[in-house]
Amino acid sequence: MCRPSTNSSTEAEKLAQGEEWIPKLDLQAFAKEIKELGDKLEREQGEADVRHLNKIVGWSNMCALVGMLTMGLKVSLLPIVALSTWTFSRWTMIAHHTCHGGYDKCHPNKNRWHRFKFAIGSFWRRLADWFDWMMPEAWNVEHNNRHHYNLSEIEDPDLVENNLAELRDMKAPLLFKYMYVFAAACTWKWLYYSPNTYKELKLAKWRREGKKIPDGVVPSDAVTIKTLLTQKIPFYSLSEFVMIVIGPYFLIHFFILPLPLLFIQQYLGRDDMYMNAVKNLFLADILTNLHGFVAVVTNHAGDDMYRFREGCRPFSGSFYLRQVLASVDFAYGTDIVDFLHGWLNYQIEHHMWPNLSMLSYQKSAPLVREICERHGVPYIKQNVFWRVKKTVDIMVGNNSMKWFPESYEKKYLETDKLILAAKKMSKSE
Ligand SMILES: [Zn+2]
Repeated sequence: MCRPSTNSSTEAEKLAQGEEWIPKLDLQAFAKEIKELGDKLEREQGEADVRHLNKIVGWSNMCALVGMLTMGLKVSLLPIVALSTWTFSRWTMIAHHTCHGGYDKCHPNKNRWHRFKFAIGSFWRRLADWFDWMMPEAWNVEHNNRHHYNLSEIEDPDLVENNLAELRDMKAPLLFKYMYVFAAACTWKWLYYSPNTYKELKLAKWRREGKKIPDGVVPSDAVTIKTLLTQKIPFYSLSEFVMIVIGPYFLIHFFILPLPLLFIQQYLGRDDMYMNAVKNLFLADILTNLHGFVAVVTNHAGDDMYRFREGCRPFSGSFYLRQVLASVDFAYGTDIVDFLHGWLNYQIEHHMWPNLSMLSYQKSAPLVREICERHGVPYIKQNVFWRVKKTVDIMVGNNSMKWFPESYEKKYLETDKLILAAKKMSKSE
């Protein structure tokens, strides 16, 4: 996992096979086309995008309804799949795109479908808009800021290769590592995502206040349930985390939500309906963790995905290029396929312009692919299960991510600076 040390004068010879496009790329022209397309899509958003969002909300609510109506009958696949898909769709499609601001301008109800309103500000909003293991405010910092604007840098909190460094380096049988990954995939939202997003929220507050990070604390190290149980971390205590972040969800989602079944089972003369529901809810949680793992964790991992050393300016040439080189798309094109992928199948497009609507991503993907192909930039679109294999290979240490050639990383950052300076100059003239 060590970084290649590069000598810029010999960089040309060091380019790997398949990287011949790098010295030939016209970064400025590529960025211009991508920016213009993003601006056009944003301008065109309107009623159709809101209708489309409502359709997806309807599908998600239908899953909730089927799940809740059937969860007391018996422990079976129907309520498990329905409840799991409800949780999955509420997060990855409805909350994700609304919290990015995808509907800020086009939605008429700005008191709810707006990034500064949706699921945040009070417990009621969290409960009504997006109730999950992760705290919405914490997710907004971790995902919308840290992950999106530090993609595949060490500052990216979702950098799989870095987060799994311990497992990768562990001297253990491969079978054990696979079993570890499977167990983590069934539990990752509460085991890793919830505590780590909360750490990012606290860290952002510390940074805003100019508070010094204590010696020995590496802010990019992931905080997991294991960390909370075995170490004292400076950001928050285990009890605070339980009381504020996961406790309310655990109690309300798994035990209070099915309470009406206690009365219904009495009325029907049964004694198992409440417990059936609790069991279905827990099994659905394992399934939704797995579904989320397949659709989310695989977005930026694989031996064909690049890592970067330095940060870049948002919406610069380097930024647009990196979103393609460090993201992968899955099968896409119809609402049902996209729904099953949680709309995470447009990861390249979503990362280029994080604040567009779901419908815009659907429209943009073939156009982005065409632009990338024309400029020689590798655009990767593969089956999601193939990407699971590639992600697991990174997690267990079978493979490693690629580092973008250092001299070109620097050269592109310089190009960004020159373009920005020229823009400022032309504005002041
Ligand atoms: Zn996002």
